[in-house]
Amino acid sequence: MQKELQQGSKQKNRAMEREKALDLSIVVPAYDEEESLGELTAWIAQVVEAEGRSYEVIVVDDGSDDGTWAEVKRISQEDSRVKGIRFRRNYGKSAALSEGFAAAKGKIVITMDADLQDSPDEIPALMAMIEKEGYDMVSGWKKVRHDPLSKTIPSKIFNNVVRRMSGIKLHDFNCGLKAYRADVVKTIEVYGEMHRYVPLLAKEAGFKKIGEKVVQHYERKFGKSKFGIERTVKGFLDLLSVSFMGKFGKRPMHFFGALGTLMFFFGFIAAGWLGAKKLWFVYHDWNAPLVTSSPYFYLALVFMILGTQLFLTGFTAELVTRNAPDRNKYLISEKIE
Ligand code: UDP
Ligand code: MG
Repeated sequence: MQKELQQGSKQKNRAMEREKALDLSIVVPAYDEEESLGELTAWIAQVVEAEGRSYEVIVVDDGSDDGTWAEVKRISQEDSRVKGIRFRRNYGKSAALSEGFAAAKGKIVITMDADLQDSPDEIPALMAMIEKEGYDMVSGWKKVRHDPLSKTIPSKIFNNVVRRMSGIKLHDFNCGLKAYRADVVKTIEVYGEMHRYVPLLAKEAGFKKIGEKVVQHYERKFGKSKFGIERTVKGFLDLLSVSFMGKFGKRPMHFFGALGTLMFFFGFIAAGWLGAKKLWFVYHDWNAPLVTSSPYFYLALVFMILGTQLFLTGFTAELVTRNAPDRNKYLISEKIE
């Protein structure tokens, strides 16, 4: 009886919490963006108020050296819907997003760059796609882009590769403007430089309806870009990690073990063949060539050694994952008890 009562009140609490939840959280990572924040938050307020929605803006100051934090403080005193989180040092955009996601209370979460390159005017349409069309996540697509060529060309190649590898039909993975159902951001974990691959992380977590919307893009008004050409290299390495972790993160032996066994097998067959041939020649008292004079001998050796090493790597990785605290944690979307 008491348990039932308790459960009843728990459900009530939960319902109340849900009611208290805001319609929208806007997460804004900001690294040295003091000049833009005032204009950005005012613009957001104007758009979202016109829609009659409740919202919050969470500015994550990623260890800025300029007056970004002072600006956040000033704005939040004037407008309590603006909240701030300040990192002690610069951790990167992914870290900022991750903290913002954890703090978000809205049913929909939108991320937006602080530099006024993304337009708050897109918010209503993005919200509608999630609420009415049932998308789990909508990514912006900067179809007409106002950035230098040194940025747009690598970006085209990058997007092509990611599209092919992930099978997600998006044109612009790296767009800062994205909208999510709250569930998505509370489930996925963005770390390292993974902010480019949030759609992949979402897909791996089982969120299937991922859409795209063409968005307005502006030139950077103040300050300068925080990312250089080295982002392409890091980006590709991260892509490999994301897709590998998604497929084999919990069962590394299936990758290394399979590859290692296969290699060892081919090496073994080749060595066996050479050995058998040699014996056959010797048996018939023919003039047998040296085993070491055949290139296959060396290939066989290399294959067997590499095969063993791959297998052992898989085994070690398996031992490591066995010790991971989340080895048996799965993403559950619903439960009936
Ligand atoms: N950013 C951040 N931490 C960083 C680098 C960037 O929070 O270490 C923020 C930055 O303030 C901006 C957004 O991430 O709001 C996108 O950065 P930027 O405009 O430099 O990227 P670009 O538009 O050149 O791709
Ligand atoms: Mg920018």
